[in-house]
Amino acid sequence: MKKLVLFDLDGTLVYAGGAGRTALTKAVKKLYGKEPKFEHGLISGRTDTDNFSIVYEMVTGKKATKAEVKKIHDAYLSLLPAEVKNAAKKKTYKLVTGVKKLLEKLSKEKDVVLALGTGNIEQGAKIKLEPSGLLKYFACGGYGEDGHKREDMLKAAVKRAEKKYITKFTPDQVYVVGDTHRDVLAAKNCGFHSAAILSGLGDAHLLQRAAAELELKNFNDVVTFYVWLGLQTDPKGVKRGIYISPASAIEHVFFSRTGIDEDRLKMLRIKKYSDLPSGTIM
Ligand SMILES: [Mg+2]
Repeated sequence: MKKLVLFDLDGTLVYAGGAGRTALTKAVKKLYGKEPKFEHGLISGRTDTDNFSIVYEMVTGKKATKAEVKKIHDAYLSLLPAEVKNAAKKKTYKLVTGVKKLLEKLSKEKDVVLALGTGNIEQGAKIKLEPSGLLKYFACGGYGEDGHKREDMLKAAVKRAEKKYITKFTPDQVYVVGDTHRDVLAAKNCGFHSAAILSGLGDAHLLQRAAAELELKNFNDVVTFYVWLGLQTDPKGVKRGIYISPASAIEHVFFSRTGIDEDRLKMLRIKKYSDLPSGTIM
């Protein structure tokens, strides 16, 4: 059975040293004479299209139109290459630990298809990945142009991969790898599998509430990643799909009383778990 693995970009493949944020700040300043003030976590994990609208509304107080979003898009893209180069020069541009080795290994698996699932606009993603040498692993993907919502972008990535590799992927065959709670929730909303890298740009508390199926510090733990993908059995004999991180004492009791089975995991993938008040039993 083929598996499609969708990788987010910022904080999952590379840290671009804030190049995207700086380019966006400069673009808005150039166009509207005002600098947008980002609160922590406001733009991380959102699509660029969403971010362009947010910053426009932030500095003008008006609702963003398509034409204004396009203006910001163009200005951002013209400023991004210099910011990425600058970050690479200052060495604030870095690859996420273990990612190159993992992608090299995955690219040789005959049943694995790799694609991007990023909120970056396509050209922006290519500019950001250029210094990393990782672009060659991704023949297609979903991008910021695919909509304001990450779900739309992920679904577009699946469609493109289906077309490119002439195969069908059911939601159970799609694995989303990201670093923020927004990546995890979007994956769950689509019924896809979800993994979170904890050393990225995500908020630790929100990530815990989002409850990804797999949480890893970085990509050095290839065995666990392979167990999650179902490409390898757990060396300690633990069955796949039984790990869960309860968010409260009540949930802990509930999960240990009822046990977790495949059906429940599917339900957790689909439900917006993080939107539930703590301790709510579904
Ligand atoms: Mg990210």
